[in-house]
Amino acid sequence: MTKKSDDQPLDLEGLAAETLAIRSGQLRTEEGAHGEPIFTTSSFVFDSAEQAAARFGGDEPGNIYSRFSNPTVRSFEQRLAAMEGGDRAVATASGMSAITSTFLALLQSGDHIVASRAIFGTTHVLFDKYMKKFGVETTLVDLTDLDGWQAAITEKTKLLFLETPSNPLCEVADIKAIADIAHKHGAVLVVDNCFCTPILQRPLALGADIVVHSATKYLDGQGRSIGGAVVGSNELMEEVYGVLRTCGPTMSPFNAWIALKGLETLAIRMQSQCASAMTLALWLTEQPAVEKVHYAGLLSHSHHALASQQQSAYGAVLSFVVKGGREAAWKVVNSTRIMSITANLGDVKTTITHPATTTHGRLSPEAKQASGIEEGLLRISVGLENIDDLKGDLVRGLDGV
Ligand SMILES: *Cc1c(COP(=O)(O)O)cnc(C)c1O
Repeated sequence: MTKKSDDQPLDLEGLAAETLAIRSGQLRTEEGAHGEPIFTTSSFVFDSAEQAAARFGGDEPGNIYSRFSNPTVRSFEQRLAAMEGGDRAVATASGMSAITSTFLALLQSGDHIVASRAIFGTTHVLFDKYMKKFGVETTLVDLTDLDGWQAAITEKTKLLFLETPSNPLCEVADIKAIADIAHKHGAVLVVDNCFCTPILQRPLALGADIVVHSATKYLDGQGRSIGGAVVGSNELMEEVYGVLRTCGPTMSPFNAWIALKGLETLAIRMQSQCASAMTLALWLTEQPAVEKVHYAGLLSHSHHALASQQQSAYGAVLSFVVKGGREAAWKVVNSTRIMSITANLGDVKTTITHPATTTHGRLSPEAKQASGIEEGLLRISVGLENIDDLKGDLVRGLDGV
């Protein structure tokens, strides 16, 4: 197999994310196919016993076995790493296995994590049930409270973890400031960059050590597969790769191909979906049935300035509070004809969720109140449908409130 990129390497230096999304990590065989091939093979053959020994011994680079080396998966990894500005990416079976592999690689019994409270629900379960079982304790803090981050750190703290903007209230963390806090104490900062993707935000350039992704969301973008990835320095990724090789939460070549093709249209999808989210957020502020709108693109949002500085756009997820509590919110949900009623996000299909009874349904009433999950709150992940059609879809329910 000859990769054209081996003969005439493309100099990626200075290329924009949109170009990297299409041209980096290119995989071209001697067949000359323009589209990247999918290598659906579990193992690879060697020319000789000598070569097999050299590959296994790590003296010769090359494919061995698809649990830890597959050309299609590598292509996705190289492309995402280039876009995030990391040395290397390690693709995983899901977003959760990306997070789990990172923890397994970097932590041991007795270590301590500080994490923001407003993170993906299953990540909480990972902390409470599984990390705890192996002797790793977690302290939760408010995403935007820098003193809180600082105060939560102990001499056992090895890792800080956050998601920004938060779901569903769009609060924005100061990545650079939190990275400084982590480094002052010899800890690493891990950022879940699922909501922004490297098109809007590049945490590594702001000082974060590792980015984790659920490729299931915007990277694929069309709800076709489950996947994840970890991105960072060669040194840290070698540790994560070791977990993948040993524990096996590997991304399949087919899912890697879907995510790889997803990256090619990521920039233009994000641009369009963010623009629609902005339009919808502004429009919602004018609706009499709407009490407030949470979207960092709005001047009224308390983290608007930070978001403007840290992100190139404000994302495609927003939330808003309908007057009249749960009954009114459910009426809006049930009046939609276009939007999908699902907790998923990052899809070209717009989705609508009532967090208080779904994604955040397990929280106690006090915890809901503390984290701003009101009964009238609805979250929308804005897709690619026509914006007037989306407004019309909401008007039906809002008019009835
Ligand atoms: C969906 C999601 C995950 C988990 O990803 P899966 O691919 O479902 O395992 C992690 N973090 C965030 C922010 C997510 O939205």
